[in-house]
Amino acid sequence: MPGTWTHEFKTDLFKGSAQVNTGLFINGKWVDPVDGETIDVYNPADGSVIGKVSCGSAKDIDLAVNAAKAAYKSSWGLKVPGFERGRLLYKLAELLEKNADSLAAIEALDAGKSFQHARHMDVQDAINNLRYYAGWADKTHGQTIETTEAKFAYTRHEPIGVVGLIVPWNFPLMIAVWKIAPALATGNTIVLKQSEVTPLSALKLAEFIKEAGFPDGVFNVVTGFGQTAGQALTEHPLVGKVSFTGSTLIGRKVMETAAKTNLKRVTLELGGKSPTIVFDDADLEQSVKWVCAALFHHSGQMCAAGTRIFVQEGIYDTFLRALAGAAASIQQGDGFAKSTQQGPVVSQVQLERVLSYIESGKQEGATLVAGGARRPGAGYFVQPTIFADVKPDMKIVREEIFGPVGVVVKFKTEEEAIEAANDTEYGLSSYVYTQNVSRAIRVSNAIEAGTCFVNVGSVLCPQVPFGGYKQSGHGKEMGEYALEAFTQVKAVHINLGMNL
Ligand code: NDP
Repeated sequence: MPGTWTHEFKTDLFKGSAQVNTGLFINGKWVDPVDGETIDVYNPADGSVIGKVSCGSAKDIDLAVNAAKAAYKSSWGLKVPGFERGRLLYKLAELLEKNADSLAAIEALDAGKSFQHARHMDVQDAINNLRYYAGWADKTHGQTIETTEAKFAYTRHEPIGVVGLIVPWNFPLMIAVWKIAPALATGNTIVLKQSEVTPLSALKLAEFIKEAGFPDGVFNVVTGFGQTAGQALTEHPLVGKVSFTGSTLIGRKVMETAAKTNLKRVTLELGGKSPTIVFDDADLEQSVKWVCAALFHHSGQMCAAGTRIFVQEGIYDTFLRALAGAAASIQQGDGFAKSTQQGPVVSQVQLERVLSYIESGKQEGATLVAGGARRPGAGYFVQPTIFADVKPDMKIVREEIFGPVGVVVKFKTEEEAIEAANDTEYGLSSYVYTQNVSRAIRVSNAIEAGTCFVNVGSVLCPQVPFGGYKQSGHGKEMGEYALEAFTQVKAVHINLGMNL
């Protein structure tokens, strides 16, 4: 029988117990994986093993996909009216709201987040997205199209069928819901492959999905490794679409596999090396605050992190001093301590990866102005780190680090800043700080990225699309645009009985 993970939280910020089913959720039931394998789950704040979940294989993915296919044919898709799909999504949002604190505690423990961030950002954002797409569920319709008197033509926005969702470990619940909410609103059924590094919140979500009353098989979760379970989902012939968030390396592999199998649709939300441009006229205090937030939130483990910071020469020295001071003052610690502003990175692997980038920055001759080391003691903590005097071809300038590491570069003119900002294979996000509105618009228009934030950090809303240019992926999450990612358009031509 599948087990249950139980944890007693006795912290200042959250007290209470949390339980999570640790089986695979297939066809509305908790089941053991066919091979009976398990995966250890770690607490990144101290490196201890806190439990085990099931490790699904290709066989489990096949069972889940077949359950999703059967549910699509019998009890979901356009058979269920949009307002009913919406009602269930509203119900799910209510359940998340009612259990928001315990869900946030699970997420904070598993992913090494601050509890306050998990509660007020990750879980709240998931609730907001569910409500936003619940509202869309009965409003995604086609058009009637005028052609000639002899013909009646219209379009339908139909679901794709079974969709595979592959989600990483940095915002496990939030990113899963960015995909789940529009997929269910438009009538698709789902197999979710959650990162094995942070599996707990998705398993808890499955419990709420069952409680909300979604028919069996509409939503399935398989926890397991990317190279086995993730690969099997991408290869499966009954899966019509894969929505993937993760590294550019694996995103490319997902596309290749989709192309080699059934040409399934793919949307990719991949890495970034997002530029931040701070002009001389920027509000110093506000820009330092937001630059820090966009760089260090969740220890920099954000695809949209503003890691390349271009500062105009007139304020360069002052800004660099202020940024280094702000970085050094960030309180690191356990996510359940009141004073904690930044938690650990997610795993030993990620810790080693981030530290090796810091080492390469030092070796290549960049000047360290803040941080630059692991925090002594237990847990996977890396100090908030800033390098100056970098060169465009250094690894720390070109590659996504996915840790709390930023580089600062001096510039003279707007043109020079735009040129340098666009000198990257990525194009996910960007940040501009200026009090000159015309310049803000000009620069936002010139930057090759899917999102531009002006005088603010990476504060997303369910109504506004998010997604990359260049090698940061394609397709949008959130907003009306995400509905397109989960629907296909059928055109119907009807002869009205005349010669066409
Ligand atoms: P990956 O891209 O490897 O993982 C993302 C998801 O894809 C996980 O669920 C993973 O499973 C799965 N996956 C891995 N291999 C395959 C495959 N062959 N087919 C289908 N799915 C697969 O990211 P990592 O977790 O390894 O992180 C490495 C780097 O990726 C980070 O340092 C960062 O630079 C970047 N990254 C970017 C993210 C973003 O939001 N854009 C998010 C996370 C990482 P599993 O966990 O089992 O490998």
